[in-house]
Amino acid sequence: NGEPVQGGSARHRLTVVSGPSGVGKSSVVAELRRLCPDIYFSVSVTTRAPRAGEVDGEHYHFVDPETFETMATGGELLEHAEFAGNRYGTPRAPVERVLDGGRPAVLEIELKGARQVRRAMPEAQLVMLLPPSWEDLVGRLTGRGTEHDDAVRARLREAESELAAAEEFDARVVNADVRAAARELLSLVVGRNTVCDET
Ligand code: 5GP
Repeated sequence: NGEPVQGGSARHRLTVVSGPSGVGKSSVVAELRRLCPDIYFSVSVTTRAPRAGEVDGEHYHFVDPETFETMATGGELLEHAEFAGNRYGTPRAPVERVLDGGRPAVLEIELKGARQVRRAMPEAQLVMLLPPSWEDLVGRLTGRGTEHDDAVRARLREAESELAAAEEFDARVVNADVRAAARELLSLVVGRNTVCDET
């Protein structure tokens, strides 16, 4: 790392951000996007139904299970996994294009997908976002109000196995404060590159 991002010759490293549902990944990633518009954030495909306020093509590409299956078997996805009853995947082509252009790219995905990226791209950097405590996570997940009880239980089960895998990651960032966590993530994503120098 350390090559200049502008100039476009060096391929940039991919950063994968994982962490249990409810840890505040979306808030931290939104703050990171605000801090550094030069970073490319992958838009996943999912079979999950859109939540209120989610925009197709912006938060996710919302697809039916048949379309998802066609993309998965056709090799169009860099990784894909099932999570709490829905399928999620990262379109491969945009990520490759951005990295080849020398721009940093970030995937915000769950653990099984992160492990697939590690195998497919050993140079990728895996970062896990952690809650300040388990109680904090349970509180955030049950208080969010966007999911039914069953879905919350499924997400808590996934959360347990995600947290157990923290040591597999290259770095861990505790989300006690969204802005502080985003700044820490920014320095991991851009490294010593020239984009979005911390001020
Ligand atoms: P949500 O339904 O809350 O938007 O996302 C559920 C989980 O799926 C989150 O942990 C999120 O990071 C993960 N996720 C989102 N997109 C992808 C993807 O493309 N691949 C994988 N493996 N996980 C994803």
